[in-house]
Amino acid sequence: MRRAGEQVAGVGWQPLRIERLSGARVGTPNGGPEVETSRIDEELNQWLRTAHAMEEQAEKMLEAQSSRIENYPELAAGVNRHLAETRRQKERLEQCLDRRGTSASSIKDVAAKFTAVMQGVGGSMASDEVVKGAMASYTFEHFEISAYRTLIAAAELAGDGETARVCTEICREEEAMANQLAGLLPQVATTYLQRSAREMEEAKR
Ligand code: MG
Ligand code: FE
Repeated sequence: MRRAGEQVAGVGWQPLRIERLSGARVGTPNGGPEVETSRIDEELNQWLRTAHAMEEQAEKMLEAQSSRIENYPELAAGVNRHLAETRRQKERLEQCLDRRGTSASSIKDVAAKFTAVMQGVGGSMASDEVVKGAMASYTFEHFEISAYRTLIAAAELAGDGETARVCTEICREEEAMANQLAGLLPQVATTYLQRSAREMEEAKR
């Protein structure tokens, strides 16, 4: 019989879920080999820390955007609403980490790493920065959705129903923001082009 720990490293989620549903002891309190269970817990903790760093980055991006989009009232309303949501998401992830008894000390390291990765996405000073910012936000929301879908599966496997529930609720907020941005992108582009017709060539780039 394959060991669950090997499957975590090699294959991915689906075999693990099937094995769990078929009554395997992975992730149960008094069942399977402790090494495998703790490994899943540790990966889940690490992914939660990464998600927390992701939300810190999201907060910075939304703050920067919020100050530059006063000419786009609908976008501004959406960005400001999601900024408040994002701050709450950060807190909820911190609560998950606390409840799981993990140290928050490594959060800053992950955040620094993540900031480096995402550098440049939100910082454009080009004249079409509002359009590019909206595009970057749309991309970022999908990055967040992928992170939370992964976290939900990991939390379920680890038997942490509360973390799975929190991540499901956060994921819905990210999906709602992505949907709103999908609707706003054409409008933002149109407004921008109309407002700066003389710079059209630059906007096409
Ligand atoms: Mg978020
Ligand atoms: Fe988001």
